[in-house]
Amino acid sequence: MPLIVQKYGGSSVADAEKIKNVARRVAETKDKGNRVVVVVSAMGDTTDELIALARQIVRQPDERELDVLLSTGEIVSSTLLSMALNELGYKAISLSGVQAGIHTDSSYSRARILEVAPKRIVRELEQGNIVIVAGFQGISRDMDITTLGRGGSDTTAVALAAALKAKVCEIYTDVEGVFTADPRLVPEAQKLSEIGYEEMLELATYGAKVIHPRAMELGEVYNIPILVATSFSKAPGTLIHGGVSMEVRNKVRGIAHDVNVAKITVVGVPDRPGIAAALFEPLAQVNINVDTIVQNASINNITDLTFTVARSDLNKAMSIVEPVARFIGAKECVSDAALAKVSIIGTGMQNTPGYAAKMFRALYEEGINIQLITTSEIRITCIIAEDRVKDALRAIHKAFELEKV
Ligand code: ASP
Ligand code: MG
Repeated sequence: MPLIVQKYGGSSVADAEKIKNVARRVAETKDKGNRVVVVVSAMGDTTDELIALARQIVRQPDERELDVLLSTGEIVSSTLLSMALNELGYKAISLSGVQAGIHTDSSYSRARILEVAPKRIVRELEQGNIVIVAGFQGISRDMDITTLGRGGSDTTAVALAAALKAKVCEIYTDVEGVFTADPRLVPEAQKLSEIGYEEMLELATYGAKVIHPRAMELGEVYNIPILVATSFSKAPGTLIHGGVSMEVRNKVRGIAHDVNVAKITVVGVPDRPGIAAALFEPLAQVNINVDTIVQNASINNITDLTFTVARSDLNKAMSIVEPVARFIGAKECVSDAALAKVSIIGTGMQNTPGYAAKMFRALYEEGINIQLITTSEIRITCIIAEDRVKDALRAIHKAFELEKV
């Protein structure tokens, strides 16, 4: 019997009616002759609410306690879905991350999965149960509950699909699939019927919210076909897989954007070995992710160094960088918090000139100033003012004729 892993996000299980709807969809999958493992997120905004609750008690909640608290959100939705399935006459059982055999390291709030030991899941499947697993959580070697980072239920789902050798991992959410750009900002955006792993990984990393980048990484490594679709209708979704044809691959496939961007410039940095390490090591130590880094060629042995961080990390980053900058003899530190990243992505860009020029021209014709540019083999990213994102997306979408896919 084929095995399917389905994951339902927070908006798909936001209330009792929606949970009953999910139960019907799961039941249908079972009726088609599949074994089914379901991974659920916490209901609606539960995770945010639990964080806010903890912060009413203490400004910086203890990491270990916070992870236990947050893990309860997914426990709640898993039990309710199991009850809803029982109510429809189906055998189902809910399992916490621990019971499901999700073993992680012990970095609270951002634990990484070390191993999946799905013995219990297999046993329950053999008994004819639909297995509902609480997403986003696992257990460390010390038997402490950990969480996998915000949006981590996707990662749980793909990890289980890999461990159980599922036929497909289906990720259900409130959008119909992967679009050429965010359809809320670009009305012309088109749904893609398929996309390759590398492209989806870049799209997700650079702001497309449909699937978590870590889940994509796992999907690619274990070659798990991943379907992204909505739980609110029967609309066909987007299949992410490794066998996308050359012709489709040979284009810009999508535009991602991210408005959670701030930049810091250290002005007048002396140009000598060790400076970059001195600046970035302390940021790494407190787990601040530095994204784009640009250092200009120096004039008279003085240079400027600019980098971006998530806007939510800006204050913390400045408090670390300012004293270091003073120590190394830089002139000053300046920051800008109202920035955004806009990225075009497509494997077709590899070795083909002209993509960057076309993107820059589209922005220029809209009167949008590019502050920083970064590229990978299959991506070009421009950092621009946040209030121009919508115009930028529409202009680039048009320039690459993405409405025609
Ligand atoms: N409930 C967690 C969050 O909101 C995990 C998830 O939804 O995937 O981040
Ligand atoms: Mg959520």
